[in-house]
Amino acid sequence: MPEWKIEHDRPNCIGCGACAAVCPASWTMSPDDGKSDLVGAREKKEGGEIVLEELEFDDIKCNKEAAETCPVNVIHIIDLKTGEKVI
Ligand code: SF4
Repeated sequence: MPEWKIEHDRPNCIGCGACAAVCPASWTMSPDDGKSDLVGAREKKEGGEIVLEELEFDDIKCNKEAAETCPVNVIHIIDLKTGEKVI
C-alpha cells in the first residue's frame, strides 16, 4: 500500500517551474497554460478545469523538495498511515 499522497492545487499554481526543475521525474510544465502537472496523477475537474491532481507514492523521493520549493505552497504531501498533511 502506498505511504504518501501528493496533492497539487493546480488552479493556484503560478507556473514558476520550480517543481519541474527539482523533480522532473514527477513534474512537467503544460504547454497549454504554463502550469505544472503531476505525472500520472488523477485529475479532479470542475467545469472542465482541473481543480486538483493527486497521486499516491511508495517513496516520495524528490516530491518533498518540490513541495518545499513551491513559492505559493500548492503542492501538499499527506502521510497515508496517519492522514496527516506533512507539507
Ligand atoms: S513550484 Fe508551485 S507554483 Fe511553481 S510550477 Fe510548481 S506547483 Fe506551480
